Amino acid sequence: MIKLNNIHKSYEMGSSKLHVLKGIDLEIEQGEFVSIMGSSGSGKSTLLNILGMLDNYDEGSYHLAGKLIANMSEKKAARLRNEMVGFVFQSFNLISFKNAMENVALPLYYQGVSRKKRNVMAMEYLDKLGLKPWAEHMPNEMSGGQKQRVAIARALISKPKIILADEPTGALDTTTSYEVMEILKEINEIGITVIIVTHEHDIAAMTQKIVRLKDGRIHEVIRNGELSEFRYKYSKELQPA
Ligand code: ATP
Ligand code: MG
Repeated sequence: MIKLNNIHKSYEMGSSKLHVLKGIDLEIEQGEFVSIMGSSGSGKSTLLNILGMLDNYDEGSYHLAGKLIANMSEKKAARLRNEMVGFVFQSFNLISFKNAMENVALPLYYQGVSRKKRNVMAMEYLDKLGLKPWAEHMPNEMSGGQKQRVAIARALISKPKIILADEPTGALDTTTSYEVMEILKEINEIGITVIIVTHEHDIAAMTQKIVRLKDGRIHEVIRNGELSEFRYKYSKELQPA
């Protein structure tokens, strides 16, 4: 489904360059639940943005569903993005002057779906996420967890193959974080590939595969069967000396 080969990415910093990704090789199968970890500035968001076709890479190759993602016009990239990917962000990125239903319906507006159909579908997705009573409420009237569920409904409405979530629990308390992770797990169980960025080991341990970035490279990939070992390793690391 996702195949990255020797991906490099630099940002221009005045006259110099900041080399953020220094040769990333990564394969993710359809239906996997993956987390990306690494210290602040290690390139997690950069990698996620490349996966979501929000940003270009400089070197290497990215194949998504067998298609080479490179040198595409913004129009073509946008079409593929709409078809394939749903995004979820730490800060929810809801439109503050639109209610929950309108926020969820937004991707359909860009697809030219009629207002009536948009609203029916938005209500269906709000209902799936237990938010039907909140349909007419504005984002500032909702809790963080509710806002994130609205954002997840919005990401799901265009029936993506992949959900990319950059620190989806970063702004939530522990209980709400687990609730959001349970939702992402359910989404994954219906066959959608879910890729999250997180700082939290407990959150990462809920996924099937942990990819750890360090100095622009993949430092380690920890798979399903090794997760208990991962928990053990970090529980030791987190214990006071
Ligand atoms: P965090 O955990 O803090 O979110 P991250 O791992 O997501 O960090 P990135 O956002 O991918 O890190 O950034 C990697 C490096 O690239 C950082 O040093 C950042 O300042 C730099 N960077 C990111 N985006 C840009 C940009 N558009 N222009 C210049 N530098 C950038
Ligand atoms: Mg980031």
